Formats: sequence, structure tokens, C-alpha cells
Amino acid sequence: MYSNSLIELDRAHLIHPVASYRGHEKLGVRVLASARGATVTDASGRQLIDGFAGLWCVNAGYGHESIVEAATRQMRELPYATGYFGLGSEPAIRLAAELADRAPGDLNHVYFTLGGSDAVDSTIRFIRYYWIGRGEPQRDQFISVEQGYHGSSTVGAGLTALPAFHAGFGIPFDWQHKIRSHYAYRNPVGNAPQAIIDASLAALRQKVEEIGPERVAAFYAEPIQGSGGVLVPPRGWMKAMRQLCRELGILFVADEVITGFGRTGPLFACHEDEIVPDFMTVAKGLTSGYVPMGAVFMGDHIYQTIADSAGAAAVGHGYTYSAHPVSAAVGLEVLKLYENGLLDNGRKAGARLMAGLESLRDHPLVGDVRGRGMLAAVELVVDKEKKTPLPAAAEPARRIFDRAWENGLVIRAFANGTLGYAPPLCCTEAEIDAIIERTRMTLDQTLEDPDVR
Ligand code: PMP
Repeated sequence: MYSNSLIELDRAHLIHPVASYRGHEKLGVRVLASARGATVTDASGRQLIDGFAGLWCVNAGYGHESIVEAATRQMRELPYATGYFGLGSEPAIRLAAELADRAPGDLNHVYFTLGGSDAVDSTIRFIRYYWIGRGEPQRDQFISVEQGYHGSSTVGAGLTALPAFHAGFGIPFDWQHKIRSHYAYRNPVGNAPQAIIDASLAALRQKVEEIGPERVAAFYAEPIQGSGGVLVPPRGWMKAMRQLCRELGILFVADEVITGFGRTGPLFACHEDEIVPDFMTVAKGLTSGYVPMGAVFMGDHIYQTIADSAGAAAVGHGYTYSAHPVSAAVGLEVLKLYENGLLDNGRKAGARLMAGLESLRDHPLVGDVRGRGMLAAVELVVDKEKKTPLPAAAEPARRIFDRAWENGLVIRAFANGTLGYAPPLCCTEAEIDAIIERTRMTLDQTLEDPDVR
């Protein structure tokens, strides 16, 4: 057992993100001590497969010496450089160029942030600057998708569709709107791909009409809705929505904070969706979670409009840690790893993961299996016919997470009992098989639990 004093210190002083503070005080922290590859070790020495890559971010896996060296070298040489006053650093410039080279279409301009929330927040400002520059300042209304997640900053959280992020803040603001999700398993139009796409297109058209077509600034979508429960749209959904935005004259933002950097197979999901958005946001896999960093990509037409419109005046948006050289050095090294085998391994491991999870469909608790590449979910129900969710009173998320943990597996357990998977792309076949095996054990134990039925 690890030191009780750490648990006490945590209880007394450390506030955890998105937690029931009282619930956490009661349960106490689980301290992670070290990690290698796809395996994490807690402070008592228990080893677990990290089926969620931290928080869908450690795409390269843990313990890459070359990443540590890149960060150390940069810290020795130049641990910090501001981007203010016209200054910069080599790794940040090189990383922006390398990313622009690989990004879809004309997404040639990169603004570095500290993570995903401030990347989304930045797009809101850039989009306003853009429309002001275009002489249409009244375009100040934003649309996103129910079950979507776009961060936890006070403004960006209004685009997020999780009620827990809104209560007491007066958000979403009245300029933030939502349309229904494509969530196929529980969609009133059924699960036929074209019906779902048509319903989303109609919903967006209707929302734009309702708001006033001349007032809408942008539409935000994740290629796969992550925090909403890994909701995978039908193939062609992103492309259809992107085309509609073009037709309606509104900007399209692809939030690739989870899907970027190999999570679904290619470097960016937009590549396989065959779209070029006006903006793309990334974070997580950009540095594989080793250090914080996010980024906003913007198209040439956006950048040129903002630049022309501001003229000699400063575009008033920046952070002390924008384009941090240590994060950028890590980003450059991680990018090399992706292209020297990690993406390929992730694609192979992803196919095995999906096949393994599909094999769980016959389990009495499994209502739905969905995913793409190394991003997947298994939605549990107590009645497959009626799709009845696990009883909320039994706190299925906590139970399932704890059981999986005891079985040596870290997964995400969503509030309704859906299991989320986002393992590191470096997983071996044996590790993927162990994830499936340990999931089956967890499901069997849950089935035996009288409170959950
Ligand atoms: N957008 C999406 C799609 C996300 O999944 C997340 C985080 N899970 C964010 C934005 C916010 O990123 P961060 O937690 O790094 O602020």
C-alpha cells in the first residue's frame, strides 16, 4: 500500500478536475508513480494497461527517451521564449511549418495554445475578428452539436454540451446554439447512415434559419464526439456538414483535440473525412501529453482577412506560454515518432481493438460497440431490446472503473455505464488482447452485481 500521507495531503489540498469533491474526499486519490509503453504502475506497485492513454492523450505511449531528451535539450538551451515583441524560437517555428505541411488543404497558419480549451476559445476570437474583417460584425452566433465537448473555459464551455459545465455560469450564452447529435444508437430517425446525415443537415439548416442566416458565424463539430461517449458519425457526415456550411456561408471548425495525431488512423481525421475545414483545433496527441500544448490551424483566407483587417494594429490575443519552445521541441520529436511507425502500429492495433470489442457484442450487457481506429466505446444496457441504461442510482461509472482497475485495466467509464477506449498507439497485439480479456472479466463481474441489474 502506498503512503497514506499522500492520500491525506491530496484530500486536504489538491482540487481534482471534473470530480465530486466530497466523493473524492471519501474515496481518496489513486497515485500513479511511473509508466512505460502502455503500462502504468501505481504507487503500490500494481501494473495496469492504460486503455485510455491518460486522458486520450499519451498516443505515443510512456517512457520515450527521445522525447525526454528533446525536452531536456530545449530546456538547457532556451527554456522559454515569448512570441510577443516579434520574438520567437526555432522549435516553435519549425513545428508550425511541419504541421502546416501535413494539415489538410490551406490550413497553413498555426497558433499555439496550452491545450484544447484555449484552442477552442481562441477560435471564437479569431472567428469574430474574421467576420469583423469581412465587414459582417453581426455574425456573432455559434452553433455546435449536442453531446459535443469543446473544453472547459468559461466561453468555450458554452459550446460544450455537458450540463455539469454550465450550471451556475449562465452558459451557454445566448449566442451559443446546439443541434441534435448524430448518436446512431439512440437516434429518433433510426440508425441508417443517410437518414442520420439528412437529419443533421436539416437540423443545421433549420437552426441557421431560426437564428437568421446573416447572423451565424460558425459551426463546430468533432470528427468523432469523444467526451459525449465516443459517438461515431456515419461516413460522409463531416463532409456533408462541411459542404452545407460552405453553401450557407458560415465557417466550419473541426475540433480534432481527441481525433488528431493518429487516434483514428491517419494523422488527422479530416484527412479520412476528406475535408478542409476553415479552422482545426488540436492538443493532446500533439505532444502526446508529455507537456501541455494545443494549436489552432486556420486557412489562408482566414489569416489573410484577419491580417488585412487589423492592418498595423495588434490582433489582441495571446498567452505568456503561446508557442512554448519546450512543448514545441516535444511536438517535433513526437511527430517523428508518429511517422516512424507509430501511426502504422496504431492502425493495426486499432483494427484488432475494434475486432476484439465487436466480439463482446454477444455479452448480455453490451448494447452497442462503436469506434474507429484506437478510439472506441462499448455502451452497456440492462435490456438490449429496450436499450435500458444501467440504473444511475448504482453509479455504474464508479463501479465499472473500479472493477476494471482491479482487473488491471484503466478505461474511461462514462456516467451511463459506457466504457471508453483510447489506448496508446504503441500497444502490442498482446496488450490489445489483454484489454479485451480484462473488459470481458469486468462485464462478467458487473453482470453478477445485483445493484446494477
Ligand atoms: N475539444 C475536445 C474535442 C476535447 O475532447 C477536449 C478535451 N477532452 C477539449 C476540446 C479541451 O481540451 P483541454 O482539456 O486540453 O483543455
